[in-house]
Amino acid sequence: MPRTDVVLADPRLRDAAGRLGRPAVKAAVSAAQQLVREGSLSPESVADAAVSALPGTAGGLRPVLNATGVVLHTNLGRAPLSDAAREAIAAAAGNTDVEMDLVTGRRAKRGRTALAALRGSVPDAGDVHVVNNGAAALVLAATALAAGREIIVSRGEMVEIGDGFRLPDLLESTGARLREVGTTNRTSIQDYEKAINPASGFILKVHPSNFSITGFTSGATIKELSGLDIPLISDIGSGLLKPDPLLPGEPDAATTLRDGADLVIASGDKLLGGPQAGLILGDATLVERLRRHPLARALRVDKLTLAALQATIDGPPTPVRQALHLDAALLRDRTESVRACLAEKGVPVTLTESVAVVGGGGAPDVRLPSWSLSLPEAYAVSLRQGATPVVGRVERGRLLLDLRCVPATSDEDLIAAVLAVA
Ligand SMILES: *Cc1c(COP(=O)(O)O)cnc(C)c1O
Repeated sequence: MPRTDVVLADPRLRDAAGRLGRPAVKAAVSAAQQLVREGSLSPESVADAAVSALPGTAGGLRPVLNATGVVLHTNLGRAPLSDAAREAIAAAAGNTDVEMDLVTGRRAKRGRTALAALRGSVPDAGDVHVVNNGAAALVLAATALAAGREIIVSRGEMVEIGDGFRLPDLLESTGARLREVGTTNRTSIQDYEKAINPASGFILKVHPSNFSITGFTSGATIKELSGLDIPLISDIGSGLLKPDPLLPGEPDAATTLRDGADLVIASGDKLLGGPQAGLILGDATLVERLRRHPLARALRVDKLTLAALQATIDGPPTPVRQALHLDAALLRDRTESVRACLAEKGVPVTLTESVAVVGGGGAPDVRLPSWSLSLPEAYAVSLRQGATPVVGRVERGRLLLDLRCVPATSDEDLIAAVLAVA
């Protein structure tokens, strides 16, 4: 068995220790030595095996190719950031003027340029604030405006947002009481009106973003509710700032404010295509009340988030937008050339029509016509565990790889990953 210190002296591993830290490199060496003990690796290959087992970065999270056809895949980190946002994060990672005016040398409003970008892109908002995520924005609004009071909400909008987290529980954890009105399928403006009393904090409208109820349904619109004499908060979920014709059922911040909502709450890492964040837009007095609440400090976003958010708003179309609006004919041509390349090397692969979805709890009824590579199901497990993990989806005994959400610049990596498995 080669001694650990001898293996660690290999220049490649010494280099890696400088980048990744010594514990990560030692762990890779120990794992390779274990393979020698088990008889599955020859002693002279320990250094080579350790080098190839090293992670690409020290971060622990591995970059993955999302070939699922789900544009916003929660388990894969929702929105992939644009190159502009990635560069902004790298630039903000050191010391930065996040809270200083470099002209005067004095303290300045934290993240003011990112907030100005958000406000500039939704002129109907009197002011804006950004917290950690959509759930944090709801908690802040409920705490600042309704703790010890009531939030009026339709029974059809008491939703679970995923992994067992339910909005009613989240809201009640702030000390607000929920006043449910209407029924699962129908709630009228009169239902809301009758519920208003001196203990009312606000009316909450929640966009049913991850399911749809069809048939005998009706609800009160933002326009109707804005006529009632009580603050109206709309949780639109997805973070569309303006309408997107491709997603007619998804509410957007500009229209919702124009229709009369006092505050709009949305996520940063869904359809906006940015970093995880909770966006709060609307009436300047209400936004200021939230910003000044002590809890706001606990929900404050990092400088990296502010940088990425601004680059997302001001920068070129995001990967999410591009994946959603990708032309199916172009995707077909691209997928076919990847297929031909793999088939030439003997991989049993075919081209198939498929359907992609928005995902991430958004636009559940939208089906995006797509194209996929179709491979034997057995490829799925190995592809997930390769040097560049590729995650597809298994449908009727076949592994489908939908390139819609794979950057075109990664096609070579995807081909290499499939060939490594084949
Ligand atoms: C996604 C979503 C949330 C939660 O937002 P996070 O950013 O994931 O915390 C809340 N409400 C609605 C309607 C949503 O779609």
